[in-house]
Amino acid sequence: MKTKQVFAGKTAIGAGAPVTVQSMLAVPAHDQAGNIAQAKQLEQAGCDILRISVPDLEAVKTLAAVKQACSIPIVADIHFDYRLALESLAAGADKIRINPGNIGQEDKVKAVADACRLRGVPIRIGVNAGSLEKSILQKYGSPTPEAMLESGLSHIALLEKFDFFDIVLSLKSSDVQKTVRAYELAAEKIPYPLHLGVTEAGTATMGTLRSAAGIGGLLLRGIGDTIRVSLTDDPIKEVETGKLLLKAIGLRNEGIRFISCPTCGRTKIDLIRLAKDAEKRLSHVQKNLSVAIMGCVVNGPGEAREADIGIAGGDGCGVLFKKGEIIRKIPEDRLLDELVQEVESMITEL
Ligand code: SF4
Repeated sequence: MKTKQVFAGKTAIGAGAPVTVQSMLAVPAHDQAGNIAQAKQLEQAGCDILRISVPDLEAVKTLAAVKQACSIPIVADIHFDYRLALESLAAGADKIRINPGNIGQEDKVKAVADACRLRGVPIRIGVNAGSLEKSILQKYGSPTPEAMLESGLSHIALLEKFDFFDIVLSLKSSDVQKTVRAYELAAEKIPYPLHLGVTEAGTATMGTLRSAAGIGGLLLRGIGDTIRVSLTDDPIKEVETGKLLLKAIGLRNEGIRFISCPTCGRTKIDLIRLAKDAEKRLSHVQKNLSVAIMGCVVNGPGEAREADIGIAGGDGCGVLFKKGEIIRKIPEDRLLDELVQEVESMITEL
């Protein structure tokens, strides 16, 4: 859905800009060296926008150091204290995450809105089902999607009152269905870009599934402009999972798209190992190519006809095929090497 566009540094969010992947630094806020090291790793892993907690003035120095060390936009995560938002802006933050309704007096909200406007810095309002305002909770009885939206709208109204419109909204819950419904309601109601996430989603496997269902389901319907996969794991994993999620639903095309069969009684080679090794050995390829790793010569080339190139296993040997056409027979122990060589020569031609 077409929304307004805002910029975190040079990175566009909304209005059809490519969906970006975000993560958050998970090193104690005063550990400058640790935060810089992790920020560089996350940038390297493909993180598009990086958030850092700013719980006090000392942490603003960490933000400044991380900003110096990286070239991706940095988001200052602020709770309650508007001075931390102002200091973070002065230290170079490219985006602020703060809920204006929690800042206190309106002149403080105005000060943050004015300072952000002056620098062209957007504000993300981050509504979380676990910390809704008491009055809203009383009205709805529990953190329903409608309650989350009402909270978001009240924070938005405060910023709009001070002529601030570079807004991004998130409405996160750990309940996938509630999260999805809240974002659907928001997409119908507001013109601002949406930051998608299922919060406290859990450890890697379940967190990935819940994020894929929630974030993926929304993105497939055109809702959402930037995402964070929230995992109880290394933030590098969040970024990798976010990138893979975008790739899985066809919103990112760079790199190889692997097609591999589930194996069956016809399989006579170690296809699982072969598929995993192929993913590893071709992970550096940035070109848009589909590669199939199939279990048998009888059905493999045909079932993976749409793949640009692939291998299919036989008995002690296999075949290399392109667009479903068998090119040559190869001994099993050479299958992967020859596939990699063939892909390398294809990408130099592309
Ligand atoms: Fe079975 Fe062959 Fe199909 Fe793989 S490609 S699932 S081995 S029939």
